Amino acid sequence: MIFRSTRDTGLRASLESAVFQGLAPDGGLYVPVEHPHLPAPGGRTFLDTALMAGSVLLEPELDHATAAGVVTRAFPFSPVLRTLGDGVHVLELFHGPSCAFKDFGACFLASLMDAYCARAARKVTVLVATSGDTGSAVAQAFRGRVHVRVVILYPSGRVSELQERQLTTVGGNVTALEVTGSFDDCQRMVKEAFRDPALRSRHTLTSANSINPGRFLPQAFYYLWASQVMGGEPGGPPVFVVPSGNLGNLTAGLYGWKWGMPAAGFLAATNANDALPRYLATGRFDARVSVLTLSNAMDVGDPSNMERLRDLFHDEPARAAPLLAATSVTDAQTVAAMRVAWKRYGYVMDPHTAVGYSALTSDTGRPPGSPVVLLSTAHPAKFVDTVRDALGLEPELPPALQAAARGRKHSVRVEPTCAALAAALDGLAAATG
Ligand SMILES: *Cc1c(COP(=O)(O)O)cnc(C)c1O
Repeated sequence: MIFRSTRDTGLRASLESAVFQGLAPDGGLYVPVEHPHLPAPGGRTFLDTALMAGSVLLEPELDHATAAGVVTRAFPFSPVLRTLGDGVHVLELFHGPSCAFKDFGACFLASLMDAYCARAARKVTVLVATSGDTGSAVAQAFRGRVHVRVVILYPSGRVSELQERQLTTVGGNVTALEVTGSFDDCQRMVKEAFRDPALRSRHTLTSANSINPGRFLPQAFYYLWASQVMGGEPGGPPVFVVPSGNLGNLTAGLYGWKWGMPAAGFLAATNANDALPRYLATGRFDARVSVLTLSNAMDVGDPSNMERLRDLFHDEPARAAPLLAATSVTDAQTVAAMRVAWKRYGYVMDPHTAVGYSALTSDTGRPPGSPVVLLSTAHPAKFVDTVRDALGLEPELPPALQAAARGRKHSVRVEPTCAALAAALDGLAAATG
């Protein structure tokens, strides 16, 4: 698959170079040049669907066996599609190693980078700054990928205890740097390191942020699978309800549709950070400073994937209108939706999923009679305080999080300077070769 930038559409890259660059050199995001029509998968499991779609994306750049290996090693876990009732189904995307949907993108990227590095007999170092959740998904995804070293910077004392465990208990090829500063310091250190050509080439530094096409594309796989499973249901293809922040998940689903997946529509649900609903209503995109909400992984005032979404519809919201609707939900509505789901179905939702459920119940624009697939983006145990306050119960930690909670913390404390980061990288390279 060949990629181009969303800005200079003549700027092309192979998947391999797009994945290691992350962002296009002109500052645009990488998108596929062509939209393949996907064949039906050979079997019924998520892995069957991922193998089918993965082979279209990866071959012929990778041979068939290598491509299949990348997909198989990426996904030792699967989504679960659960029926609530009243035509509503929940697509649980939290059965991966960090119990959130970002595992799908992070694990695929990790498996893909590992395969490219093995083929070229080289090693790279993935450098990430995190305020919590993204870093834990990346740390878990790269666990044991022998050709890739991962260095994660997090602000000391400013991530939750469970998040810190998820970052610091992996060990092996994953090193956690505990920065005695803020998240902004961590980000600045990473940016400075990438701007230092000597440091960059000495450690073959690369990134793994959410706009990387290797994280973005595999998010289409679970839509394709859910659509296929729903194929036997009465009422026709489903409406997908997507809790949205940076719009990666939503846009990947729209790509699935572009590749031939049946869908009755998409309903994007945002919290008070409502850039997308405003864009669809007014045709104008304006970035804002993000506001804090209960669904904090969606607190994004300036969503990066807006650029991919506008590219897909040639920046004409009217073209998106029959397919895509968007609704903004308040914190009070989020809590109310958690209570309704619990009362009506005995189902515990995390606050992000509940934003989607609230949008679904308040939106009247959806095609009547269509079944609904609500994407559940995180396990409720990750947001235990909100769940306790809303429902008066304590969700049990899933096994993956229990293991992290029991693990031993290993971190290297560093000062918030680029010199300290460079010294830490050099030290690691000297210690592990
Ligand atoms: C990142 C995240 C989202 C938002 O996904 P985007 O692709 O950024 O729109 C929603 N829920 C959870 C739990 C997340 O971690």
